[in-house]
Amino acid sequence: MDYQIFEKVWRWCVRRHPDKGRRWVKDRYFMSVGGRHWVFGDTLPLRFVSAAEMPITRHVKVKGYASPFDPALKDYWNQRAARKIEERYLSRKKKILETQGYRCWRCGCAIREEDRVHFHHKIPRYAGGPDNAWNLHAVHRYCHQILTKHSDYPLRRGRGDAAREEGHGNV
Ligand SMILES: [Zn+2]
Repeated sequence: MDYQIFEKVWRWCVRRHPDKGRRWVKDRYFMSVGGRHWVFGDTLPLRFVSAAEMPITRHVKVKGYASPFDPALKDYWNQRAARKIEERYLSRKKKILETQGYRCWRCGCAIREEDRVHFHHKIPRYAGGPDNAWNLHAVHRYCHQILTKHSDYPLRRGRGDAAREEGHGNV
């Protein structure tokens, strides 16, 4: 266990039992396991916690006995999958912006943080345009409207304003 973590854990244990001696606290919370001393664990622990096993919080943690096969936890897993997809698409959009030097593909002006960014398919998906960096460009929302207006590819019939807004931006 890292010393800093150990110190915190130790102080917590001591604080919890102000009427007990250090020796008692040690016997109560620490044990020797497989040659390792001072392994932290409550009495009859189910598992021992070492620094290396501490959960990495930037990932969505899988709860104790969570399993995708448990119907009660289906929503939980769906959320987890959704988050992953979201992360993937965010990083992809970020990459396109980086490649363009955070400048609009149409007007060449800077795309600032407060701008609404649209992702424009040069050749629309329905016309066979690929969904890759060659065909996909970050533009201002305003610029996207202009591009859409003057595109050689008219919007498909039956697509409403919502479709025109997001237009080719289905990244
Ligand atoms: Zn622009």
